[in-house]
Amino acid sequence: MPWQGRTCRQLLGSVIAFTGICVGMAVHAMPTQEPPGQLLQRAISIKTTNHDEFLRIVAQLHQVADNLPVDEQWALRYLEAWQAAFDGSESKAFSALRTIADQAPDPALRLRALATMVNISGFAHRYEEGFIQLNRMTELLPQVSDVDARYAAIGEAAQFLVISHHYEQAIEAANEMLQNVPPDKNACHATYFKLHALFQSGSTQLTPVQLQQGVDLCIAGGDAVYANALRTDLATLHLQKGHAEDAIHLLEEHYAEVQGFKFPGLMQYFNVLLANGYFAQGDMPKARKFALATIEGKVEDAYSEPLRQAYELLYRIENRLGHAREALTYHEKYMEVDKGYLNDVNASALAYESIKQQVLAKRTQVDTLNRQNQILQLQRQLDHKAMETSRLYIALLLTVLASIAFWLLRIKRSQMRFKRLATQDSLTHICSRQHFVDEAEQILRQAARGTRSACLVLMDLDHFKLVNDTHGHVIGDLVLKRAVAACQQHLHSNDIFGRLGGEEFAILFPDCSARQALDRADRIRQAIAATPLWGETRHVVISASFGIACTDRSGYELRQLMIDADNALYQAKRDGRNRVVYGDDMDAATGEAVTHEAIHSERLADLPH
Ligand code: GH3
Ligand code: MG
Ligand code: MG
Repeated sequence: MPWQGRTCRQLLGSVIAFTGICVGMAVHAMPTQEPPGQLLQRAISIKTTNHDEFLRIVAQLHQVADNLPVDEQWALRYLEAWQAAFDGSESKAFSALRTIADQAPDPALRLRALATMVNISGFAHRYEEGFIQLNRMTELLPQVSDVDARYAAIGEAAQFLVISHHYEQAIEAANEMLQNVPPDKNACHATYFKLHALFQSGSTQLTPVQLQQGVDLCIAGGDAVYANALRTDLATLHLQKGHAEDAIHLLEEHYAEVQGFKFPGLMQYFNVLLANGYFAQGDMPKARKFALATIEGKVEDAYSEPLRQAYELLYRIENRLGHAREALTYHEKYMEVDKGYLNDVNASALAYESIKQQVLAKRTQVDTLNRQNQILQLQRQLDHKAMETSRLYIALLLTVLASIAFWLLRIKRSQMRFKRLATQDSLTHICSRQHFVDEAEQILRQAARGTRSACLVLMDLDHFKLVNDTHGHVIGDLVLKRAVAACQQHLHSNDIFGRLGGEEFAILFPDCSARQALDRADRIRQAIAATPLWGETRHVVISASFGIACTDRSGYELRQLMIDADNALYQAKRDGRNRVVYGDDMDAATGEAVTHEAIHSERLADLPH
């Protein structure tokens, strides 16, 4: 606000002390044993109205700072930064406020820090800095629900926008304030910013009545400084309308009151407006007196509007009085201040544009980054999906492989089972009939090539039907197994031993002469006959009969060997069983023709012709 220049105390004090450190309006008594959180809140609310107590609270809190919760430590830091600004330590204040604005966990406190930075920047004419912080403030506002912090921050924004000659935006900010007046306040500040911004913007719609209503509202709210600030606008309006008397009356009426504020910025306005009023009335001495008072009470602000007007007035006064030298001096001063003022206006406009561009550029950059992020996220999601899909594929593949392996294993097992079934006799586990035939033919072919002798022995258990009938099939099976085991004790590794069916077996002795075959078959016969079967109660006596045929007589055809061996076996049975018969012996013994193919055809049925 234009009347708010440098302070009664320090460079930045009045900048912050908006409504009255110098006015000393409200005085709060310090309650004892107040909790730190409450103390902090109170310190924030009275920092501009009761500065002495504010200082006491800060000092008191400082002593217990280490024991405060984190949020309260940050709030205390803010108060100390604010105090540093008040004391004129602008850079110390700024660096502390920056840390708070960047790092404090409470967004309301961050907003307060930014608002204080905006305030300081405005009165220090550091517009670029001010716009930067203002922009951050605007971005932060949606996160802040603290009504007081929001109201104060928007107030600082409105003030900064007026100072930087951005009246339309200031009006917008004021309208925002008007809609969000905290319940414990009246609308004085919001109304002041609205009317003042309208006035500064040169709005023709603004009427003295509106301004007077603003004044009344502020008086009702106890804001005498704001009321008088509005009176300066009202007086200016009177002057503009040629009502110098009204302006002078209004200003003189409240002159002493404003002097009591010791508020140099506002006082400057009162002085220069009075100077203008008296000048308009042609009262040069009084005009000069108030113009000089304006210059005397100047704050350390080279570009203030009252100063510019005061020099201009003095130049005119001296000119009118014919004091050419003085007039020239004041004119030079006027030109200097006017130039500074214009520079300031330009600087603020430039800063505004520059920050606008930077914000736009940043926004574009942020948009680009956001888009890149979205693309990256999409990419990541896709990658994730692809990974999930390939995991699924791998799992599926593994399942398929496992099932294939499982089925292969099952197939292999059943193949082995079938093979075993095909090659093995299930009861005795020796060669099946077919397997015996295959193996025997192969050995006979080899023997034929090497003209080596081989013998076939057929064996049939004697009276086996009787065993079954007497002891049952289970015992019959056992007898079969025992007989096989007895045979196996006398077999060589290259002998082929197979079950042809029922209780009939065949053995092929490779590389074996008839004599050797007879001996070996007889040993087997004896072994079977000697096989103890069953215990004392069920003594089963078994024996077997054997028929032998050898390649030297029968040739290398299995079929012929079978026929000859079968005949011999038949002979053995006829001779009384439990014996071994070789073809020749048989012939020699009986002299009978030995063709029993019809009788034993089942032994020969599968043999190749
Ligand atoms: P022979 O001395 O003349 O050879 O008299 P045998 O009783 O042994 O002759 P036969 O061929 O009349 O009887 C064979 C019996 O073998 C008939 C059948 O009940 C029995 N048999 C055949 N296969 C099996 C088998 O796998 N287990 C059992 N327990 N008995 C079987
Ligand atoms: Mg038989
Ligand atoms: Mg038999």
